[in-house]
Amino acid sequence: MKSKVFFVKAVNHKSAAAGISSIFRAVKAPEIFRGNDFVAVKTHFGEKNSVTHVPPQFIGEVGRLIKKNGGVPFLTETSTLYKGNRSDAVVHTMHAHAHGFTPEKTGMAVIMADGLKGDYEHEVVLPNGSKVMVAGMLKKISSIVAVSHPTGHIALGFGGAIKNLGMGLSSRKGKLVQHSSVKPSVAAAKCTGCGRCIKWCPVDAIEMTPKRKALIKDKKCIGCGECLTECRFDAVLYNWEMDNTRIQELTAEHAYGVVLGKKGLYVNYLLNFTKDCDCFGTKKKALIKNIGILASLDPVALDAATIDMVENEAKIPLEQLAHEGIDPRVQIRHAEKIGLGFSQYDIVSCK
Ligand code: SF4
Ligand code: SF4
Repeated sequence: MKSKVFFVKAVNHKSAAAGISSIFRAVKAPEIFRGNDFVAVKTHFGEKNSVTHVPPQFIGEVGRLIKKNGGVPFLTETSTLYKGNRSDAVVHTMHAHAHGFTPEKTGMAVIMADGLKGDYEHEVVLPNGSKVMVAGMLKKISSIVAVSHPTGHIALGFGGAIKNLGMGLSSRKGKLVQHSSVKPSVAAAKCTGCGRCIKWCPVDAIEMTPKRKALIKDKKCIGCGECLTECRFDAVLYNWEMDNTRIQELTAEHAYGVVLGKKGLYVNYLLNFTKDCDCFGTKKKALIKNIGILASLDPVALDAATIDMVENEAKIPLEQLAHEGIDPRVQIRHAEKIGLGFSQYDIVSCK
């Protein structure tokens, strides 16, 4: 089977914003957004200092088109695992506003999908029997638009729609499953003995030692990550080493859990393709010329087409362009195997 991937050329933000309306026409948007349905628009607001994430002007245009076609859009995101200005709903929403993702600029409110601290979640059972934990808000909506900024990725080799959905809309527990190979531990030197982690651990897996240092009992720990969120002193440590094949498979499975049973439109903003993703708090340089906007009802075909276009432009495999030693198509193959979509596609040029 093949899926359609719609494409419009764009060399800068202005032509991208102009081009997205032709894509909405081509995908027959009224059939996706009718009935005043809430539509969750998932994007990445860009870490501090990032200038290459999808700009608010483009997101605003997407919101306007969703409204025009019958939907009620809002912007959504989830808390990050690492500490920083996106690690809970309060700081993340403020950060989104600071980066221009305000109701005034985009016409949409920002509503975090995983609650105040990333633990509002629900379990989804995939057709193959695997279970994944995704953001709780997804239970309440029937339509998603994921606007992703494709980049290289330090763990997955490539981050596009599958990564934006799978990592970006999983709950904290879902993210931990994708990122971490072991249970947490406590760095005694950093632990102040405040006891906050003990109070919040749902299975009483943490005890206080006589020297007032928290100690995690590995056998009892269920890996929920509550202690990681609650510790205000960065004393809870995780082993973030994860085999890059397995992390891609798990991300594809979470992406499937996010979209299962929903109508979806997936948009890849293929401008400013950088070596690393927008979670890096630095100014990054584009590795290739701007290409344009791709969109599909199938996130797998969309990412497959995006990787092909990047490689055609770069004239070398993505593995050489961004992160050597990581085959970025593992996620495509696994996503197709579990039924998320198809890796084969036809390009439909839009004007
Ligand atoms: S990860 Fe969860 S279960 Fe394990 S120690 Fe931390 S809070 Fe307790
Ligand atoms: S919350 Fe952090 S500092 Fe407080 S006891 Fe737990 S590990 Fe130590």
